[in-house]
Amino acid sequence: MSNPSAIMLSLAGRVALVTGGGGGIGSAVASALLKAGAAAFSIDRADRPGPPGVSSIACDVSRSAEVASAVADVVGRAGRLDVVVHCAGITRDAVVAKMSDADWHEVIATNLDSAFYLLRSVAPALRQAGGGAVVLVSSINAERGKVGQANYAASKAGMNAMAMTAARELGRFGIRVNVVAPGWIDTPMTAAVPEEYRQRALDETVVGRLGQPEDVAGAVLFLCSDLGRHVTGQVLRVDGGQLIGH
Ligand code: NAP
Repeated sequence: MSNPSAIMLSLAGRVALVTGGGGGIGSAVASALLKAGAAAFSIDRADRPGPPGVSSIACDVSRSAEVASAVADVVGRAGRLDVVVHCAGITRDAVVAKMSDADWHEVIATNLDSAFYLLRSVAPALRQAGGGAVVLVSSINAERGKVGQANYAASKAGMNAMAMTAARELGRFGIRVNVVAPGWIDTPMTAAVPEEYRQRALDETVVGRLGQPEDVAGAVLFLCSDLGRHVTGQVLRVDGGQLIGH
């Protein structure tokens, strides 16, 4: 590998943990990190294993003790931790007037509480490794809101704010914390959304195509590698221009 950019993109010798590694975006991220040379672990629901070559650990990310134990398991097995990507997430859509307490709390717990449990659990191991990179997968709807997604947009906006705070707190230990904010990406999460909304998202893009999980994985890989070594506290939209277009 004599190309300097390729060397900087390499994650050889590093250990990566991806939450939601059995999902659409998470499995593409885990595969990309693996291909870049990292030892990769996925923490996800028991029936959602990560892609081949990725070690899977069953964990409900909305539960503090389970996240702490899964992180300890990864560090125990791999001996170190360098890269962490939080992809696990859910939607439970309803307009505010009709949203139940359960839908509100489940989304906040799964998307936002989990990010806190994860950051708190991984920080000591990243520090011990001499530094590292964390990426939280948020959403463009954190910045613009979305009808029916008060719970989801609030959870993702909270993740954005948490990442900026963590970037400030952990920078002196060589730990970078960034957010990738996708627009529409074709995954199991969006497969259930009516075609009319998919078309609207396509119309919002300025590139004339909708995103694929690999598009998000590429941005994550950049941020986690040494190519992104001076980037921290940022929200990087991966949305084909959906937000600048409108
Ligand atoms: P996905 O295919 O549904 O993947 C999400 C993964 O997280 C699934 O394997 C899911 O398992 C898992 N998960 C959910 N709750 C969990 C919990 N409590 N504990 C452990 N694992 C849990 O969705 P995706 O589209 O790849 O989304 C990945 C991330 O990108 C999410 O944070 C999402 O909000 C964000 N995002 C997606 C889009 C998009 O257009 N697809 C756009 C912007 C942001 P189950 O399937 O069993 O629930």
